Amino acid sequence: MSEYQIQIVVVAGGPAGLAAAVAAAEKGAKVALLEKRAIPGGLANAGMGILAVESHFQKEAGIDLTVEKAVKMMMEYEHYNIDGRLVRRYFGQSADTIEWLEGMGVEFEGAFRYFAQSEATWHIVKTGKKIGPAAARVMNQKLAERAEELGVQIYYECVGKKILKDGSGRISGLLATDKIGRNFVIDCEAVIIACGGASGNPEMIREETGYQFGVDLFNFSSPAITGDGLKMAWEAGADRLPVRIEQAALCGGLDNLPPCVPNVMMQPNLLVNLSGKRIMDEEQMENTTFLGNAATIQEKRLLFSIVDSSIVDHYIKDGLDRTSLVRNDPDVSPFADAVDKALERGNRSVFKADTLKELAEKTGIDAEGLLRTVELYNGYCESSDDEFFKKQELMRPIVKPPFYAATIYPGGYGTVGGIRINENCEVLSNFKPIPGLYAAGSDACNLYNDSYMFLLPGNSMGFAVNSGRIAGMEAAGYVLSRS
Ligand SMILES: Cc1cc2nc3c(=O)[nH]c(=O)nc-3n(C[C@H](O)[C@H](O)[C@H](O)COP(=O)(O)OP(=O)(O)OC[C@H]3O[C@@H](n4cnc5c(N)ncnc54)[C@H](O)[C@@H]3O)c2cc1C
Repeated sequence: MSEYQIQIVVVAGGPAGLAAAVAAAEKGAKVALLEKRAIPGGLANAGMGILAVESHFQKEAGIDLTVEKAVKMMMEYEHYNIDGRLVRRYFGQSADTIEWLEGMGVEFEGAFRYFAQSEATWHIVKTGKKIGPAAARVMNQKLAERAEELGVQIYYECVGKKILKDGSGRISGLLATDKIGRNFVIDCEAVIIACGGASGNPEMIREETGYQFGVDLFNFSSPAITGDGLKMAWEAGADRLPVRIEQAALCGGLDNLPPCVPNVMMQPNLLVNLSGKRIMDEEQMENTTFLGNAATIQEKRLLFSIVDSSIVDHYIKDGLDRTSLVRNDPDVSPFADAVDKALERGNRSVFKADTLKELAEKTGIDAEGLLRTVELYNGYCESSDDEFFKKQELMRPIVKPPFYAATIYPGGYGTVGGIRINENCEVLSNFKPIPGLYAAGSDACNLYNDSYMFLLPGNSMGFAVNSGRIAGMEAAGYVLSRS
């Protein structure tokens, strides 16, 4: 017999694990939660909000997006290559989840779009400060407090290592290590895996997706998120599905600079590849998933955003073409200084030159290609964009030195998918549930075929909280039916 006994063990304490623990404890199950780090919240502490459809915020604001429309949008966007039953349950529960969180003291600013073409599904958590990054930390904190209030035993700096089964194939325990590295076993009847994918494990990213972290992929990650949940579940017999990058292109190396730099360089201006050729209507750059896909198929998976000083001056005087709730300071007057300082510090993602030829030399873009493209592009600015049909109001010529360029690479919010689950978040082996094993959040988020569904923003953390909640309720039902 082991040192510890409990009904359900949740690994780990991101939004999926926290929601699972609360939901299971609310149903009356005895729950323990192990979290590798010393704090709850996982990668979601950097995020802002969750998807919901038909929430009271949307109804109050007159937003008429229905669950029916959202499910159809999602299925069509993902070419029916995803589990429709899971999407239906997730979206159908999502409005109630907002109220469930409000019942714990979480407040929301309302329902927002991420960019103009997206729907207003992003329920941003209220913090008492200006809307911006890391708002979701407050939600994670409230979930952790509610879990403790319900008697969930939370063990920080403990690492789930191996799922144990009895002779009949049912879950019987979890092997873990404590903060000084000692092994211990918790006897339990159900395990919920929610370890957040593999965003902090470059080898696994390379093996599973082909991207090289820091070379042709600049995704967000945490060193604690190393694919443990995927490996534990696969070892326990879970069906293995593709692990994907939750694609969102990034100005590689630019997000450490003052927001005015990415704010200017992510505007819908000229975008070229290493041959100096345009590849798309730059207005679509706002959907960073599309931009990431477009970057992925280029030589070296690399694109360059290019502006001249007249465009920068225009943004300083008249404001940006596109503002962002994430980079929430629209004042770009420090742009030139910030670029100069970045260059002094040796930043290799942003470039400045007095001529386009010099800009080509510095970036490695084919000079002839770039000069020809700028000539054509400047012509389109005077007439119409006959190449990619960008709106005329977004066409600004590249004429006045100094010229600036920034690299754009595939990036993302980590990995998603890998463990096959059904709509009850039961982990499947050969399409049959492994009795007592559940998964939620990024580890089990097989909902984005080849592209993150950014038209319904808040989708990945929304899935984390909702799938965690489903896993907790279902696991509680399972263990309580056995007692
Ligand atoms: C900058 C940024 C902004 C984002 N903004 C949004 C947003 O606004 N809306 C949205 O929908 N999505 C957003 N996302 C994505 C969102 O954060 C993820 O969808 C969400 O965090 C997934 O939740 P999770 O619980 O599955 O995993 P995580 O939040 O990644 O948590 C996983 C947890 O597992 C722990 N862990 C790992 N292995 C073990 C182990 N073996 N034992 C114990 N613990 C372990 C980790 O320490 C971590 O705490 C954002 C992501 C980033 C990086």
